[in-house]
Amino acid sequence: MKLYNTLTKKVEVFESNEPGKVKMYTCGPTVYHYAHIGNIRTYIFEDVLEKTLKYIGFDVQRVMNITDVGHMTDDSDDGEDKILKAAKRDNMTVTDIASFYTKEFIKDIDKLNINKPKIISRATDNIDQYIKIIEVLLNKGYAYEANDNIYFDVSKYDDYYKLSGLNKDELLVGVRDEVDEDTFKHNPSDFGLWFTNSKFDHQKLKWDSPWGEGYPGWHIECSGICIKYFGEDLDIHCGGVDNIFPHHTNEIAQSECYLGHKWCNYWIHSGHLNDKNGKMSKSNGEFLTLNSLIKRGYNPLSYRLLCLQSHYRNNLVFSYEAMDNAQNTYNKLINKIYELNKSKEDLNETVIDEYIIKFKDSIENDMNTANVITYLFDLLKDDRLNDSSKLYLIGEYDKVLSLDLVKKKKNINPKLEEKIKKLVKERETLKREKKYEEADRIREELLNLGVKINDTKEGTEIVWI
Ligand code: AMP
Ligand code: ZN
Repeated sequence: MKLYNTLTKKVEVFESNEPGKVKMYTCGPTVYHYAHIGNIRTYIFEDVLEKTLKYIGFDVQRVMNITDVGHMTDDSDDGEDKILKAAKRDNMTVTDIASFYTKEFIKDIDKLNINKPKIISRATDNIDQYIKIIEVLLNKGYAYEANDNIYFDVSKYDDYYKLSGLNKDELLVGVRDEVDEDTFKHNPSDFGLWFTNSKFDHQKLKWDSPWGEGYPGWHIECSGICIKYFGEDLDIHCGGVDNIFPHHTNEIAQSECYLGHKWCNYWIHSGHLNDKNGKMSKSNGEFLTLNSLIKRGYNPLSYRLLCLQSHYRNNLVFSYEAMDNAQNTYNKLINKIYELNKSKEDLNETVIDEYIIKFKDSIENDMNTANVITYLFDLLKDDRLNDSSKLYLIGEYDKVLSLDLVKKKKNINPKLEEKIKKLVKERETLKREKKYEEADRIREELLNLGVKINDTKEGTEIVWI
Protein backbone atom coordinates (compact mmCIF):
# COMPACT_ATOMS: atom_id res chain seq x y z
CA MET A 1 0.00 0.00 0.00
CA LYS A 2 1.32 3.40 -0.95
CA LEU A 3 0.36 6.54 0.95
CA TYR A 4 1.34 10.18 0.78
CA ASN A 5 3.13 10.98 4.00
CA THR A 6 3.05 14.66 5.03
CA LEU A 7 6.14 14.03 7.14
CA THR A 8 8.35 13.08 4.19
CA LYS A 9 6.28 14.90 1.51
CA LYS A 10 6.39 11.73 -0.59
CA VAL A 11 4.17 8.86 -1.62
CA GLU A 12 5.69 5.96 0.29
CA VAL A 13 5.19 2.23 0.67
CA PHE A 14 3.39 1.75 3.96
CA GLU A 15 5.08 -0.52 6.48
CA SER A 16 3.64 -0.96 9.94
CA ASN A 17 5.83 -1.28 13.04
CA GLU A 18 4.40 -4.68 13.85
CA PRO A 19 3.80 -6.95 10.83
CA GLY A 20 0.10 -7.28 10.01
CA LYS A 21 -1.06 -4.74 12.61
CA VAL A 22 -1.81 -1.06 12.25
CA LYS A 23 -2.19 1.44 15.05
CA MET A 24 -4.19 4.32 13.63
CA TYR A 25 -5.23 7.52 15.39
CA THR A 26 -7.71 9.99 13.95
CA CYS A 27 -8.46 13.41 15.42
CA GLY A 28 -12.11 13.46 16.40
CA PRO A 29 -14.80 16.12 16.50
CA THR A 30 -15.16 19.19 18.65
CA VAL A 31 -18.59 18.80 20.18
CA TYR A 32 -19.97 22.26 20.61
CA HIS A 33 -21.90 22.02 17.36
CA TYR A 34 -22.89 19.56 14.64
CA ALA A 35 -20.13 18.19 12.44
CA HIS A 36 -20.22 20.03 9.11
CA ILE A 37 -19.92 18.23 5.81
CA GLY A 38 -16.26 19.34 5.58
CA ASN A 39 -15.43 17.50 8.80
CA ILE A 40 -17.42 14.59 7.46
CA ARG A 41 -15.29 14.49 4.31
CA THR A 42 -12.27 13.89 6.54
CA TYR A 43 -14.06 11.13 8.47
CA ILE A 44 -15.03 9.47 5.17
CA PHE A 45 -11.41 9.51 3.99
CA GLU A 46 -10.28 8.00 7.30
CA ASP A 47 -12.93 5.31 7.00
CA VAL A 48 -11.78 4.45 3.47
CA LEU A 49 -8.19 4.25 4.71
CA GLU A 50 -9.15 1.92 7.54
CA LYS A 51 -11.22 -0.29 5.23
CA THR A 52 -8.48 -0.38 2.58
CA LEU A 53 -5.92 -1.50 5.15
CA LYS A 54 -8.35 -4.15 6.37
CA TYR A 55 -9.09 -5.27 2.81
CA ILE A 56 -5.42 -5.93 2.16
CA GLY A 57 -5.16 -7.94 5.34
CA PHE A 58 -4.08 -5.64 8.18
CA ASP A 59 -5.59 -5.86 11.62
CA VAL A 60 -6.39 -2.19 12.20
CA GLN A 61 -6.77 -0.78 15.69
CA ARG A 62 -8.20 2.68 15.67
CA VAL A 63 -8.60 5.34 18.34
CA MET A 64 -10.43 8.66 18.08
CA ASN A 65 -10.80 11.46 20.60
CA ILE A 66 -13.78 13.65 21.32
CA THR A 67 -12.79 17.24 22.07
CA ASP A 68 -15.16 18.23 24.85
CA VAL A 69 -12.91 20.65 26.75
CA GLY A 70 -14.14 24.23 26.82
CA HIS A 71 -11.30 25.75 24.80
CA MET A 72 -12.09 23.43 21.86
CA THR A 73 -9.63 23.66 19.03
CA ASP A 74 -8.57 27.22 19.44
CA ASP A 75 -5.18 28.30 20.64
CA SER A 76 -5.87 31.96 20.72
CA ASP A 77 -5.03 33.81 23.88
CA ASP A 78 -8.30 35.61 24.05
CA GLY A 79 -11.75 34.65 22.88
CA GLU A 80 -14.34 32.63 24.65
CA ASP A 81 -15.12 29.24 26.02
CA LYS A 82 -16.85 27.70 23.02
CA ILE A 83 -18.74 25.11 24.98
CA LEU A 84 -20.11 27.77 27.31
CA LYS A 85 -21.16 29.87 24.34
CA ALA A 86 -22.88 26.82 22.83
CA ALA A 87 -24.63 26.07 26.14
CA LYS A 88 -26.11 29.58 26.08
CA ARG A 89 -27.00 29.34 22.39
CA ASP A 90 -28.78 25.99 22.74
CA ASN A 91 -30.10 26.54 26.25
CA MET A 92 -28.43 23.43 27.64
CA THR A 93 -25.88 22.74 30.37
CA VAL A 94 -22.21 22.51 29.46
CA THR A 95 -22.14 18.72 29.94
CA ASP A 96 -25.38 18.24 28.01
CA ILE A 97 -23.94 20.16 25.05
CA ALA A 98 -20.97 17.81 24.75
CA SER A 99 -23.04 14.63 25.09
CA PHE A 100 -25.77 15.90 22.74
CA TYR A 101 -23.34 16.73 19.91
CA THR A 102 -21.34 13.55 20.50
CA LYS A 103 -24.53 11.52 19.96
CA GLU A 104 -25.33 13.57 16.85
CA PHE A 105 -21.84 12.87 15.52
CA ILE A 106 -22.31 9.12 16.00
CA LYS A 107 -25.69 9.29 14.22
CA ASP A 108 -24.06 11.11 11.29
CA ILE A 109 -21.25 8.63 10.85
CA ASP A 110 -23.74 5.76 11.06
CA LYS A 111 -25.77 7.21 8.21
CA LEU A 112 -22.62 7.39 6.11
CA ASN A 113 -21.53 3.81 6.81
CA ILE A 114 -18.42 5.13 8.57
CA ASN A 115 -17.06 2.55 11.02
CA LYS A 116 -17.25 3.75 14.58
CA PRO A 117 -13.69 3.43 15.96
CA LYS A 118 -13.53 0.76 18.70
CA ILE A 119 -12.07 3.29 21.10
CA ILE A 120 -13.58 6.75 21.22
CA SER A 121 -12.18 8.65 24.17
CA ARG A 122 -13.38 11.95 25.58
CA ALA A 123 -10.72 14.58 26.27
CA THR A 124 -12.24 15.22 29.71
CA ASP A 125 -11.75 11.56 30.72
CA ASN A 126 -7.98 11.69 30.44
CA ILE A 127 -6.86 14.65 32.55
CA ASP A 128 -4.47 12.49 34.65
CA GLN A 129 -2.71 11.35 31.51
CA TYR A 130 -2.05 14.95 30.36
CA ILE A 131 -0.76 15.90 33.80
CA LYS A 132 1.61 12.92 33.76
CA ILE A 133 3.04 13.96 30.36
CA ILE A 134 3.34 17.63 31.31
CA GLU A 135 5.20 16.74 34.51
CA VAL A 136 7.75 14.74 32.51
CA LEU A 137 8.13 17.58 29.98
CA LEU A 138 8.77 20.02 32.84
CA ASN A 139 11.29 17.67 34.46
CA LYS A 140 13.13 17.17 31.18
CA GLY A 141 13.28 20.93 30.58
CA TYR A 142 11.04 21.01 27.51
CA ALA A 143 8.33 22.98 29.29
CA TYR A 144 8.28 25.98 31.62
CA GLU A 145 5.88 27.80 33.87
CA ALA A 146 5.00 31.41 33.13
CA ASN A 147 2.10 33.57 34.27
CA ASP A 148 0.72 30.49 36.11
CA ASN A 149 0.46 28.53 32.85
CA ILE A 150 2.68 25.74 31.50
CA TYR A 151 4.11 26.19 28.01
CA PHE A 152 6.07 23.96 25.68
CA ASP A 153 9.38 25.52 24.65
CA VAL A 154 9.68 24.93 20.90
CA SER A 155 13.30 26.11 20.83
CA LYS A 156 14.23 22.92 22.74
CA TYR A 157 12.98 20.66 19.99
CA ASP A 158 15.10 20.73 16.81
CA ASP A 159 12.58 18.97 14.58
CA TYR A 160 9.74 21.37 15.29
CA TYR A 161 9.48 22.36 11.63
CA LYS A 162 9.61 18.89 10.04
CA LEU A 163 5.88 18.24 9.57
CA SER A 164 4.76 21.61 8.26
CA GLY A 165 7.87 22.10 6.14
CA LEU A 166 7.66 25.78 7.08
CA ASN A 167 10.63 27.64 8.51
CA LYS A 168 10.67 29.59 11.76
CA ASP A 169 9.70 32.92 10.19
CA GLU A 170 6.89 31.42 8.10
CA LEU A 171 5.48 29.71 11.18
CA LEU A 172 5.61 32.95 13.11
CA VAL A 173 3.37 34.56 10.53
CA GLY A 174 0.88 31.71 11.07
CA VAL A 175 1.11 32.07 14.81
CA ARG A 176 0.63 35.84 14.71
CA ASP A 177 -2.39 35.44 12.48
CA GLU A 178 -4.10 33.12 14.89
CA VAL A 179 -2.89 34.03 18.33
CA ASP A 180 -2.73 37.33 20.12
CA GLU A 181 0.72 37.94 21.47
CA ASP A 182 1.20 36.38 24.88
CA THR A 183 4.02 38.37 26.48
CA PHE A 184 4.77 35.65 29.02
CA LYS A 185 5.90 33.10 26.45
CA HIS A 186 9.63 32.69 25.82
CA ASN A 187 9.09 32.29 22.05
CA PRO A 188 5.99 33.32 20.09
CA SER A 189 5.55 29.73 18.81
CA ASP A 190 5.50 28.19 22.30
CA PHE A 191 2.15 26.65 23.01
CA GLY A 192 0.11 26.04 26.14
CA LEU A 193 0.14 22.62 27.80
CA TRP A 194 -1.85 23.63 30.86
CA PHE A 195 -3.71 26.85 31.67
CA THR A 196 -4.27 27.84 35.26
CA ASN A 197 -4.56 31.48 34.52
CA SER A 198 -7.57 31.11 32.26
CA LYS A 199 -7.62 33.05 29.05
CA PHE A 200 -11.40 33.03 29.18
CA ASP A 201 -13.52 35.03 31.60
CA HIS A 202 -15.91 32.30 32.61
CA GLN A 203 -14.06 29.05 31.99
CA LYS A 204 -16.47 26.32 33.09
CA LEU A 205 -14.56 23.05 32.94
CA LYS A 206 -11.57 23.01 35.29
CA TRP A 207 -9.56 20.33 37.06
CA ASP A 208 -7.03 20.17 39.89
CA SER A 209 -3.41 19.89 38.86
CA PRO A 210 0.03 20.32 40.48
CA TRP A 211 -0.05 23.89 39.07
CA GLY A 212 -3.47 24.81 40.42
CA GLU A 213 -6.98 24.50 39.08
CA GLY A 214 -7.08 24.76 35.32
CA TYR A 215 -7.51 22.95 32.04
CA PRO A 216 -5.30 21.32 29.40
CA GLY A 217 -4.13 22.89 26.16
CA TRP A 218 -5.68 21.65 22.95
CA HIS A 219 -2.78 19.60 21.54
CA ILE A 220 -1.91 17.61 24.68
CA GLU A 221 -5.30 15.94 24.44
CA CYS A 222 -4.49 13.90 21.32
CA SER A 223 -0.95 13.00 22.42
CA GLY A 224 -2.29 11.92 25.81
CA ILE A 225 -5.11 9.75 24.45
CA CYS A 226 -2.95 8.25 21.75
CA ILE A 227 -0.10 7.28 24.09
CA LYS A 228 -2.58 5.96 26.67
CA TYR A 229 -4.13 3.49 24.23
CA PHE A 230 -1.26 2.72 21.86
CA GLY A 231 1.85 3.06 24.00
CA GLU A 232 5.12 4.44 22.66
CA ASP A 233 4.63 4.06 18.91
CA LEU A 234 2.02 4.79 16.33
CA ASP A 235 1.76 3.86 12.65
CA ILE A 236 -0.73 6.35 11.24
CA HIS A 237 -2.11 9.68 12.42
CA CYS A 238 -4.79 11.40 10.32
CA GLY A 239 -6.76 14.60 10.08
CA GLY A 240 -7.62 17.40 7.69
CA VAL A 241 -4.82 19.61 6.29
CA ASP A 242 -5.70 22.38 8.74
CA ASN A 243 -4.43 20.08 11.48
CA ILE A 244 -0.84 20.03 10.13
CA PHE A 245 -0.03 23.29 11.87
CA PRO A 246 -0.28 23.94 14.74
CA HIS A 247 -2.12 20.86 16.03
CA HIS A 248 -0.11 17.94 14.64
CA THR A 249 3.17 19.89 14.70
CA ASN A 250 2.68 20.45 18.43
CA GLU A 251 1.52 16.89 19.03
CA ILE A 252 4.77 15.57 17.54
CA ALA A 253 6.92 17.99 19.58
CA GLN A 254 5.40 17.15 22.96
CA SER A 255 5.04 13.39 22.29
CA GLU A 256 8.59 12.88 21.01
CA CYS A 257 10.09 14.95 23.82
CA TYR A 258 8.04 13.03 26.37
CA LEU A 259 8.90 9.61 24.90
CA GLY A 260 12.49 10.41 23.97
CA HIS A 261 12.20 8.94 20.46
CA LYS A 262 10.32 9.12 17.16
CA TRP A 263 6.62 8.61 17.67
CA CYS A 264 4.46 8.27 14.55
CA ASN A 265 5.67 7.17 11.11
CA TYR A 266 2.88 8.24 8.74
CA TRP A 267 0.93 11.49 8.84
CA ILE A 268 -1.93 11.40 6.36
CA HIS A 269 -4.07 14.48 5.68
CA SER A 270 -7.17 15.07 3.61
CA GLY A 271 -7.84 18.17 1.54
CA HIS A 272 -10.58 20.56 2.54
CA LEU A 273 -14.14 20.79 1.51
CA ASN A 274 -14.72 24.37 0.47
CA ASP A 275 -17.86 26.17 -0.47
CA LYS A 276 -18.05 29.21 -2.69
CA ASN A 277 -16.99 31.38 0.26
CA GLY A 278 -13.90 29.30 1.01
CA LYS A 279 -13.15 26.69 3.68
CA MET A 280 -16.16 25.42 5.55
CA SER A 281 -15.60 25.91 9.28
CA LYS A 282 -17.55 25.64 12.50
CA SER A 283 -16.26 28.86 13.95
CA ASN A 284 -17.57 31.10 11.15
CA GLY A 285 -21.03 29.74 11.94
CA GLU A 286 -22.11 29.16 8.34
CA PHE A 287 -21.85 25.54 7.41
CA LEU A 288 -23.84 22.64 6.07
CA THR A 289 -24.63 19.60 8.12
CA LEU A 290 -25.51 16.11 6.94
CA ASN A 291 -29.04 16.64 8.21
CA SER A 292 -29.43 19.77 6.10
CA LEU A 293 -28.58 17.67 3.02
CA ILE A 294 -31.04 14.97 4.07
CA LYS A 295 -33.76 17.62 4.52
CA ARG A 296 -33.15 18.75 0.95
CA GLY A 297 -33.85 15.18 -0.22
CA TYR A 298 -30.30 13.87 -0.58
CA ASN A 299 -29.26 10.40 0.43
CA PRO A 300 -26.26 10.59 2.82
CA LEU A 301 -24.54 7.97 0.67
CA SER A 302 -24.75 10.31 -2.33
CA TYR A 303 -22.56 12.66 -0.30
CA ARG A 304 -20.20 9.76 0.43
CA LEU A 305 -20.08 9.08 -3.32
CA LEU A 306 -19.37 12.76 -4.06
CA CYS A 307 -16.35 12.56 -1.74
CA LEU A 308 -15.15 9.27 -3.22
CA GLN A 309 -15.30 10.66 -6.75
CA SER A 310 -12.40 13.00 -6.06
CA HIS A 311 -8.97 12.23 -4.62
CA TYR A 312 -8.91 12.68 -0.86
CA ARG A 313 -5.89 15.00 -1.00
CA ASN A 314 -7.48 17.46 -3.44
CA ASN A 315 -9.66 20.25 -2.21
CA LEU A 316 -13.27 19.68 -3.11
CA VAL A 317 -15.69 22.50 -3.82
CA PHE A 318 -19.20 21.82 -2.65
CA SER A 319 -22.21 22.94 -4.69
CA TYR A 320 -25.77 21.70 -4.93
CA GLU A 321 -25.18 21.05 -8.61
CA ALA A 322 -22.31 18.68 -7.73
CA MET A 323 -24.58 17.11 -5.12
CA ASP A 324 -27.39 16.62 -7.68
CA ASN A 325 -24.93 14.93 -10.04
CA ALA A 326 -23.65 12.67 -7.28
CA GLN A 327 -27.20 11.75 -6.30
CA ASN A 328 -28.12 10.95 -9.92
CA THR A 329 -24.99 8.84 -10.31
CA TYR A 330 -25.75 7.06 -7.07
CA ASN A 331 -29.32 6.31 -8.11
CA LYS A 332 -28.18 5.11 -11.52
CA LEU A 333 -25.68 2.75 -9.91
CA ILE A 334 -28.16 1.34 -7.41
CA ASN A 335 -30.83 0.85 -10.03
CA LYS A 336 -28.50 -0.82 -12.50
CA ILE A 337 -27.33 -3.18 -9.77
CA TYR A 338 -30.94 -3.84 -8.79
CA GLU A 339 -31.67 -5.04 -12.33
CA LEU A 340 -28.97 -7.73 -12.11
CA ASN A 341 -30.20 -11.28 -11.96
CA LYS A 342 -29.75 -12.60 -8.43
CA SER A 343 -29.84 -16.33 -9.32
CA LYS A 344 -26.49 -18.09 -8.90
CA GLU A 345 -24.34 -18.75 -11.96
CA ASP A 346 -20.73 -19.96 -12.26
CA LEU A 347 -18.34 -17.08 -11.72
CA ASN A 348 -16.19 -15.81 -14.60
CA GLU A 349 -13.00 -16.20 -12.57
CA THR A 350 -10.45 -14.78 -15.03
CA VAL A 351 -12.34 -11.58 -15.67
CA ILE A 352 -13.11 -11.26 -11.95
CA ASP A 353 -9.36 -11.44 -11.24
CA GLU A 354 -8.76 -8.69 -13.77
CA TYR A 355 -11.21 -6.39 -11.98
CA ILE A 356 -9.93 -7.28 -8.51
CA ILE A 357 -6.38 -6.45 -9.60
CA LYS A 358 -7.53 -3.08 -10.97
CA PHE A 359 -9.43 -2.42 -7.77
CA LYS A 360 -6.50 -3.26 -5.51
CA ASP A 361 -4.05 -1.31 -7.67
CA SER A 362 -6.22 1.77 -7.30
CA ILE A 363 -6.98 1.67 -3.61
CA GLU A 364 -3.43 0.64 -2.74
CA ASN A 365 -2.11 3.58 -4.73
CA ASP A 366 -2.83 6.35 -2.21
CA MET A 367 -6.53 5.44 -2.28
CA ASN A 368 -7.65 6.32 -5.77
CA THR A 369 -11.35 5.80 -5.13
CA ALA A 370 -12.34 7.81 -8.22
CA ASN A 371 -10.79 5.07 -10.37
CA VAL A 372 -12.73 2.43 -8.47
CA ILE A 373 -16.02 4.18 -9.27
CA THR A 374 -15.06 4.17 -12.97
CA TYR A 375 -14.31 0.42 -12.81
CA LEU A 376 -17.69 -0.10 -11.19
CA PHE A 377 -19.42 1.35 -14.23
CA ASP A 378 -17.05 -0.54 -16.53
CA LEU A 379 -17.80 -3.91 -14.98
CA LEU A 380 -21.53 -3.31 -15.10
CA LYS A 381 -21.19 -2.92 -18.88
CA ASP A 382 -18.74 -5.78 -19.37
CA ASP A 383 -20.37 -8.60 -21.38
CA ARG A 384 -17.67 -11.06 -20.32
CA LEU A 385 -19.16 -11.06 -16.83
CA ASN A 386 -22.43 -12.75 -15.95
CA ASP A 387 -24.66 -11.13 -13.33
CA SER A 388 -23.40 -13.33 -10.48
CA SER A 389 -19.83 -12.27 -11.25
CA LYS A 390 -20.87 -8.63 -11.38
CA LEU A 391 -22.60 -8.91 -8.02
CA TYR A 392 -19.57 -10.64 -6.54
CA LEU A 393 -17.23 -7.87 -7.72
CA ILE A 394 -19.55 -5.09 -6.59
CA GLY A 395 -19.68 -6.73 -3.15
CA GLU A 396 -15.87 -6.75 -3.03
CA TYR A 397 -15.56 -3.10 -4.09
CA ASP A 398 -18.19 -2.12 -1.57
CA LYS A 399 -16.10 -3.50 1.30
CA VAL A 400 -14.09 -0.29 0.89
CA LEU A 401 -16.56 2.07 -0.78
CA SER A 402 -19.38 1.25 1.70
CA LEU A 403 -22.12 2.63 -0.53
CA ASP A 404 -24.66 -0.12 0.20
CA LEU A 405 -24.43 -1.07 -3.46
CA VAL A 406 -25.90 -4.53 -3.20
CA LYS A 407 -29.24 -3.54 -1.77
CA LYS A 408 -32.57 -5.18 -2.23
CA LYS A 409 -34.58 -2.06 -2.86
CA LYS A 410 -34.46 0.40 -5.69
CA ASN A 411 -33.12 3.64 -4.43
CA ILE A 412 -34.65 6.65 -6.02
CA ASN A 413 -34.59 10.10 -4.60
CA PRO A 414 -38.28 11.01 -4.09
CA LYS A 415 -37.67 14.49 -5.54
CA LEU A 416 -36.16 13.02 -8.68
CA GLU A 417 -38.89 10.43 -8.98
CA GLU A 418 -41.52 13.16 -8.76
CA LYS A 419 -39.75 15.18 -11.45
CA ILE A 420 -39.54 12.15 -13.72
CA LYS A 421 -43.23 11.34 -13.28
CA LYS A 422 -44.12 14.94 -14.13
CA LEU A 423 -42.00 14.88 -17.28
CA VAL A 424 -43.47 11.55 -18.39
CA LYS A 425 -47.00 12.96 -18.01
CA GLU A 426 -46.07 16.12 -19.89
CA ARG A 427 -44.65 14.01 -22.71
CA GLU A 428 -47.77 11.87 -22.88
CA THR A 429 -49.90 15.02 -23.24
CA LEU A 430 -47.59 16.41 -25.94
CA LYS A 431 -47.81 13.13 -27.85
CA ARG A 432 -51.60 13.16 -27.66
CA GLU A 433 -51.46 16.70 -29.04
CA LYS A 434 -49.08 15.41 -31.77
CA LYS A 435 -46.31 17.80 -30.64
CA TYR A 436 -43.65 15.17 -31.35
CA GLU A 437 -40.64 17.49 -31.40
CA GLU A 438 -41.36 18.77 -27.92
CA ALA A 439 -42.09 15.22 -26.75
CA ASP A 440 -38.67 14.14 -28.03
CA ARG A 441 -37.02 16.95 -26.17
CA ILE A 442 -38.51 15.59 -22.95
CA ARG A 443 -37.28 12.11 -23.85
CA GLU A 444 -33.76 13.63 -24.09
CA GLU A 445 -34.17 15.38 -20.75
CA LEU A 446 -35.25 12.11 -19.16
CA LEU A 447 -32.20 10.38 -20.62
CA ASN A 448 -30.01 12.98 -18.95
CA LEU A 449 -31.73 12.20 -15.66
CA GLY A 450 -30.81 8.54 -16.09
CA VAL A 451 -34.05 7.04 -17.41
CA LYS A 452 -34.98 5.63 -20.79
CA ILE A 453 -38.63 5.46 -21.74
CA ASN A 454 -40.34 2.87 -23.87
CA ASP A 455 -43.82 3.39 -25.28
CA THR A 456 -45.82 0.22 -24.72
CA LYS A 457 -49.49 -0.66 -25.17
CA GLU A 458 -49.94 -0.35 -21.41
CA GLY A 459 -48.40 3.13 -21.36
CA THR A 460 -44.94 4.58 -20.78
CA GLU A 461 -42.37 2.20 -19.33
CA ILE A 462 -39.48 3.75 -17.36
CA VAL A 463 -36.11 1.97 -17.51
CA TRP A 464 -33.15 3.17 -15.39
CA ILE A 465 -29.95 3.21 -17.37
P1 AMP B 1 -13.06 19.82 14.27
O1 AMP B 1 -14.35 19.24 14.74
O2 AMP B 1 -13.15 21.24 13.83
O3 AMP B 1 -11.95 19.61 15.27
O4 AMP B 1 -12.59 19.02 12.96
C1 AMP B 1 -12.64 17.63 12.86
C2 AMP B 1 -11.86 17.17 11.64
O5 AMP B 1 -12.35 17.79 10.44
C3 AMP B 1 -10.36 17.53 11.68
O6 AMP B 1 -9.62 16.42 11.20
C4 AMP B 1 -10.23 18.71 10.74
O7 AMP B 1 -8.94 18.78 10.16
C5 AMP B 1 -11.28 18.38 9.69
N1 AMP B 1 -11.81 19.56 8.98
C6 AMP B 1 -12.15 20.77 9.47
N2 AMP B 1 -12.63 21.57 8.51
C7 AMP B 1 -12.63 20.85 7.35
C8 AMP B 1 -13.02 21.11 5.98
N3 AMP B 1 -13.55 22.28 5.61
N4 AMP B 1 -12.85 20.11 5.07
C9 AMP B 1 -12.34 18.91 5.43
N5 AMP B 1 -11.97 18.61 6.70
C10 AMP B 1 -12.09 19.55 7.65
ZN1 ZN C 1 -5.99 15.79 17.38
